[in-house]
Amino acid sequence: MMSVSLQDFQRKELIKKLIESGIKEKKVLDAINTVKRELFVSPEFKRFAYENNALPISNSQTISQPYTVAFMTEILKVNPGDKILEIGTGSGYQAAILCELGADVYSVERIEQLYKEAGIILKKAGYNVKLKCSDGTKGWKEYAPYDGIIVTAGSPSIPETLVNQLALGGKLVIPVGDKHIQEIWCVTKEKDKKGKDTFTTDKYQYFKFVPLIGDEGWKNA
Ligand code: SAH
Repeated sequence: MMSVSLQDFQRKELIKKLIESGIKEKKVLDAINTVKRELFVSPEFKRFAYENNALPISNSQTISQPYTVAFMTEILKVNPGDKILEIGTGSGYQAAILCELGADVYSVERIEQLYKEAGIILKKAGYNVKLKCSDGTKGWKEYAPYDGIIVTAGSPSIPETLVNQLALGGKLVIPVGDKHIQEIWCVTKEKDKKGKDTFTTDKYQYFKFVPLIGDEGWKNA
């Protein structure tokens, strides 16, 4: 008989809640059902790993709520082989979800301790993510353009540098607002009939993120 661990059971319960909350994409639900979120939270919070809540990680940062991760990932519409840039590695959980969707994942984190810890955890969990420690509002030019860019911290506006690192048809998913509340925006890069780049912005629901701090984000915490 195959044994089912408590975490396997809790993960299934979480999936039911995400479906009730409106998450539809099977690939996204499968990825969440596969990644062991308990590996990405600190030991004292492991028992809360499958509650649909954000949890603290080092340096006053947070691992996003599973619903938030699912919602943003669904909007990003990841296909296997897509090159995806994440800004705000944090725990590494969102990056692991993107790997499960078959993406080639690049992720930038500004806090050195988090960058180092995420590197260790992702490797241990078997995910190959290219990581960099720097100001993500400047993107990661070397590997641009990206099929998708996902920013997991709240920004006062859209960093122009990130938009410029999108491939044709690429999407930038980013929370935009003040320090307390932000709306998820999705900017898609297309070409008009004359071959000129155009950007379409779709706006979704409100969430609360930690601030995106950097040259094209908030200038201070
Ligand atoms: N995606 C993460 C969520 C982390 S919270 C996860 O799955 O756990 C947001 C992260 O963005 C924090 O770790 C914060 O340090 C980082 N951050 C804030 N501003 C940044 C910037 N300009 N560049 C890169 N990372 C940034």
